[in-house]
Amino acid sequence: MRIALVAHNQKKDDMVALATEFAPLLKRHTLMATGTTGGRLQAEVGLDVERLLSGPLGGDLQIGARLSVGEVDALIFLRDPMTAQPHEPDINALIRACDVHNVPCATNLATARLLLKGLE
Ligand code: PGA
Repeated sequence: MRIALVAHNQKKDDMVALATEFAPLLKRHTLMATGTTGGRLQAEVGLDVERLLSGPLGGDLQIGARLSVGEVDALIFLRDPMTAQPHEPDINALIRACDVHNVPCATNLATARLLLKGLE
């Protein structure tokens, strides 16, 4: 499967921990991520991740565009609900694209774990 991974700044440590826990599984799939998230997954977890633009620079939109043409099978998007984001419209567009195209979308750790366990 092609899995997209995004984490807001306050959630990046959680994303690294999640990816470390599920690294053997994630290594069997094709991964893409927004820029900074992807950089940390490469450096700290050793995953082979395609890095797109950083979220605030359009990375969420890039994932949304790919997802809309059937090139993303699942999204793990650890959002920070306590901090206003400059690219809120992009975030909403990405989540909406998941709903439009019926793509599994996990926006918190608990759901992300369920999703990944479902892939095991
Ligand atoms: P980042 O983008 O991984 O480049 O920080 C994530 C986001 O803010 O949407």
